[in-house]
Amino acid sequence: MNPQQHTGSYYAATVNQPTDYATLKGEQTADVCVIGAGFTGVSTALHLAERGYNVHVVEANRVGWGASGRNGGQMIGGIAGASRIARAQVKDIDQLVWDMRWAGHEIIRERVATYDIQCDLKSGYLDVAIKNRHLDALKRDLEALEKFDFPHEVRLLSRSETADTIGTQAYIGALLNMGNGHIHPLNLCIGEAHAAVSLGATFYEQSPVLNIEHGGKPRVVSKHGSVSADFVVLAGNAYHFLETKLRGILFPVNSFILATEPLSETLVNFLNPKDLAVCDPNFVLEYFRLSADKRLLFGGRCNYSGSDPQVIKKNLLPRMLKIYPELEDKKIAYAWGGTIGVTINRVPQLGRLSPNVFYSQGYSGHGVNVTHLAGQIMADAVAGTFERFDLFANIKPIRIPGAHTFSKQMVALGMIYYQLKDRL
Ligand SMILES: Cc1cc2nc3c(=O)[nH]c(=O)nc-3n(C[C@H](O)[C@H](O)[C@H](O)COP(=O)(O)OP(=O)(O)OC[C@H]3O[C@@H](n4cnc5c(N)ncnc54)[C@H](O)[C@@H]3O)c2cc1C
Repeated sequence: MNPQQHTGSYYAATVNQPTDYATLKGEQTADVCVIGAGFTGVSTALHLAERGYNVHVVEANRVGWGASGRNGGQMIGGIAGASRIARAQVKDIDQLVWDMRWAGHEIIRERVATYDIQCDLKSGYLDVAIKNRHLDALKRDLEALEKFDFPHEVRLLSRSETADTIGTQAYIGALLNMGNGHIHPLNLCIGEAHAAVSLGATFYEQSPVLNIEHGGKPRVVSKHGSVSADFVVLAGNAYHFLETKLRGILFPVNSFILATEPLSETLVNFLNPKDLAVCDPNFVLEYFRLSADKRLLFGGRCNYSGSDPQVIKKNLLPRMLKIYPELEDKKIAYAWGGTIGVTINRVPQLGRLSPNVFYSQGYSGHGVNVTHLAGQIMADAVAGTFERFDLFANIKPIRIPGAHTFSKQMVALGMIYYQLKDRL
């Protein structure tokens, strides 16, 4: 794999402080070597650097090059598969699992404040309903939030309140949650990397890791250099191309985003005056929000694996115009996509390949929040505390035969299956 620059996204075009870390050269040593500089890797590195570890992060492309720098920026609450995690334990850990569901948000807010990261952090989120069963699910979510004394404003909106709030008749109701929100994900990821570096961490870019020599002191090898460390953390998620064992338990799903040109104040006041992130409940879902410069960022999952902006536009534009016909004459300034790591049982996969090589992947589309929690759990594991790590590691991942070899065909089949299910 040849090292690449960022994809042509709105985020890459509006980076505050681009990264240009050196490539990995020579024989380096560290306490911990992290492979991959998306949210999982960067979050892990920052947690470790804050605790005084000497961390080296090796990234094949650029910091935030993968899903972390391309996503919808939606701070979705909860962990996919959370109820399965709670059910799988012997003792009652509902409260612990509940706290974990929101921990990533708190880590993000704390870091933005501590390190003064400029990433357009906003509070406010709408889970919209298309069918009655979605409304029932939102009511259950509200009950759970109230049961656990959720500290932020949260309430159900009627059909007409939903239409007034987001300027479309497409939904029959919604759950407003001011504890969730949205961010410019690439600026957050890069800001966190710069914060880790300020605490002594070392980042290498344009340095694909080609091999890991496992052993008492594992050695992470790239073309022109290596890092020997006491611990290695694998954070390549859906872009991971090293360990086939990990690739076989992760299902790659593609998602794409359009960014319009900046919209007028009148349109913004009609479409989304409260500046909320919006997400529908389908598996082949749609999600949208405004950027800081008032573009509509509209995303959706598609059965396409390329990066041609024209194809992405052809797939997504009719879906966007169905919700917002008012945008008919607006220019599409950017169109890009990326790959999400989905697990069959939806539970994130945190575990170890050997006593000193850990991995974390498969957040099933909830990664902005959960990667930040995962980084903390990885740092705990390195420090010898496994309480939360084991909650995930004890759940056996479901292996998908041929998952990566036949990934395109499997994604196509999976999309058809889920599209049918969404229609029921
Ligand atoms: C289009 C899109 C929209 C999304 N929207 C949302 C959203 O709105 N909200 C949300 O919560 N989640 C969303 N997600 C999911 C979320 O972005 C991911 O769950 C999360 O970013 C995963 O972070 P990560 O660090 O684990 O992986 P990634 O960000 O993919 O990072 C993995 C990194 O590892 C590097 N790497 C891989 N192999 C090697 C190697 N051998 N050597 C060195 N480096 C390597 C890659 O280059 C890459 O930079 C979306 C994803 C996509 C693609």
